[in-house]
Amino acid sequence: MTRALVIGGGICGPVTAVALRRAGIDARVHEAHPGPGAGVGAFLTLAPNGLAALRTLGMLGAVRAAAGCATTGIEFVNGAGRRLGLLPDGSASGPEELRTVTVERDALQRALTDAAREQGVPVEYGKRFVGYTENATGVVAEFSDGTTAEADVLIGADGIHSPVRRQMDPEAPGPEYTGLLNVGGRVGAVAVAPTPEATARMLFGARAFFGYQTAPSGDVYWFANFGHEQHARERLAALDDATWKKRVLELFADDHPDVTAILEAAAPARFRPLGVYDLASLPRWSRGRVALAGDAAHAVSSSSGQGASLAAEDALVLAACLRDLPSHEEAFAAYERLRRDRVERVAKEGRRRGNRKAGSSHPAALFARDLTLRVVFALIARFGGHSWINDHRVDFDQRVTLP
Ligand SMILES: Cc1cc2nc3c(=O)[nH]c(=O)nc-3n(C[C@H](O)[C@H](O)[C@H](O)COP(=O)(O)OP(=O)(O)OC[C@H]3O[C@@H](n4cnc5c(N)ncnc54)[C@H](O)[C@@H]3O)c2cc1C
Repeated sequence: MTRALVIGGGICGPVTAVALRRAGIDARVHEAHPGPGAGVGAFLTLAPNGLAALRTLGMLGAVRAAAGCATTGIEFVNGAGRRLGLLPDGSASGPEELRTVTVERDALQRALTDAAREQGVPVEYGKRFVGYTENATGVVAEFSDGTTAEADVLIGADGIHSPVRRQMDPEAPGPEYTGLLNVGGRVGAVAVAPTPEATARMLFGARAFFGYQTAPSGDVYWFANFGHEQHARERLAALDDATWKKRVLELFADDHPDVTAILEAAAPARFRPLGVYDLASLPRWSRGRVALAGDAAHAVSSSSGQGASLAAEDALVLAACLRDLPSHEEAFAAYERLRRDRVERVAKEGRRRGNRKAGSSHPAALFARDLTLRVVFALIARFGGHSWINDHRVDFDQRVTLP
């Protein structure tokens, strides 16, 4: 096999294309948007497992240069700001280059795209995938501008609502709404108590959940999650940004005043909410010459902080399988076998974390929640509960063999 089409130039796409090229496969990326990273959302954290995968592919330097700050731990507090627990993610004691970072999504996409192009990966924009056909010797992707592209295999790295997945397996379940909406962004200096060094503060409020970190630059990265019935994106957009801002401010009116200070300082456009979805388990990750990677194959809730890092891991495993196994069918089967348990376990963990975020109108219920959370965080801190997620490393040099 010599050629691959990668659909999607978000996070998984450029990383997968680089990994494929390192496996000796000529890969090119086709992205629907007109350019990298324009208006693609707020920020995310990249964990040691994802950073290690990027290091293997020579993409780590570019990503670290784009990062806003290190985020090697989380301090959890209740609505009044009282500490419920402090969870270092373990990366502060490891190599500096693998310390968890917070990075804005558009900067991350640009960094990954530039790094991919430097390694010879062609990235084409304005290429909206609309369908594919398969024949005995290859697969042909069709784009909305009427053009086509042909290769030996096609990788759908086109995100949680993946059009590639919809064609590959029309019976597959769609993404599931977690019951939460998300808003967030970055504001300039706000007069709030700084968060501990390299640590985000997450607040379980009376009615909703708030996270923020004061970066050394003075910027404040913030987000809020709140329970809401499921609405299509268009219906959410029907309310104007100023109204959403007012609603979010009301949700935190009884919580620590620093939350209100940050929200007041944020631009109204940052309050247009997005539903938080996940995709816990698909019946299949590939069919014929087509396979899925990243959120297209398994989207974990944003509460896990792992979607991007898992996408980078996928890229390495998928490329190693295609490099080492005789046929694409065997390679895709091995890739799914090697990845499925891990990503589904992370998806469950993300759901569990998200379920704790909803508030309550009863003070007694909030009291009980805080008590439970104190115990939960103490246990996680004591037994290193998350190391199985962050300490995972994919050995790209290890040969993949058939079972
Ligand atoms: C609010 C929020 C916070 C998050 N926080 C974190 C976090 O802290 N840490 C973390 O690791 N993850 C986080 N995630 C998850 C993370 O963003 C995803 O897991 C990650 O973006 C997956 O990368 P991807 O490349 O698979 O998908 P995407 O990043 O969604 O990229 C898919 C790409 O495919 C393109 N595309 C779609 N359709 C087509 C088409 N028809 N033709 C061509 N191209 C197409 C899209 O334009 C897009 O560029 C968060 C997610 C959300 C929503």
